Amino acid sequence: MLNNLFDNKYLSIIAGPCALESQEQVEQVARCLKLLGLHFIRAGIFKPRVSPYSFQGLGKKGIGILSSVASYYKLKTVSEVTDNNSLQLLSYKVDILQIGTRNMTNYSLLKDIAKATEINHKPIIFKRGMSAKISEYLSTLEYLKVYGNENIILCERGIRTFEDSTRFTLDISAVPVIHSLCKYPVCVDVSHSSGNSKYVFDLAKAAVACGADCLMLEVHPNPKQAKCDGKQQLDLDSFKLLIEEIKPIAKAVGKTII
Ligand code: PEP
Ligand code: MN
Repeated sequence: MLNNLFDNKYLSIIAGPCALESQEQVEQVARCLKLLGLHFIRAGIFKPRVSPYSFQGLGKKGIGILSSVASYYKLKTVSEVTDNNSLQLLSYKVDILQIGTRNMTNYSLLKDIAKATEINHKPIIFKRGMSAKISEYLSTLEYLKVYGNENIILCERGIRTFEDSTRFTLDISAVPVIHSLCKYPVCVDVSHSSGNSKYVFDLAKAAVACGADCLMLEVHPNPKQAKCDGKQQLDLDSFKLLIEEIKPIAKAVGKTII
């Protein structure tokens, strides 16, 4: 069932806060997703932060909150595995495991995630390393395959270039290039790539127009109060508007938004 939701006739939307901060926060997002008829909620519980003084996520306590809210609203959950400890805690509690850009080259973690999911083939969102060429990215994904789980969704999330007017440079060419090289669905994360909510609408439209199978968006009931990535998160009204605005584009490329 979950695998079919990443079929190329759909545009799957994965949205939610950068970090899970409270039950109330995640409930507001879940309610909004449900009203829009969407299926996936994301929320970081273990946060890989550049500074050890920044909010590191709610940890263990957040897992119960995400699971209970998602099960009430019948949503599938996505959360990032940052290390072996979070793998043990998340592997049975979330529906889709995310591997972040900073761990694309953590080969031992990739092996462990693949082995932990080799029986249930739980979907894995495997993000492109911020400095990885597509050839390196696709070569590294073989670790997941070889160690037992080929149920992979690739995710372009922006790369490091000389350009600093956005947080990263969204490599939109990655969508058709990856599609031409392999069979895996391609997700585009328009929040971490842009780093700024004012560019999210246009980048989301571009991603859908060039064939993305999935969009990842950070959404927060009150982005100004967010504990991380506030600048790039959409509030709920903007998110609803974005979904309306991408509908005709999704339709034009033969995809239904789910
Ligand atoms: C995230 O999606 O929460 C995240 C940290 O993304 P990335 O690994 O792309 O920076
Ligand atoms: Mn974030």
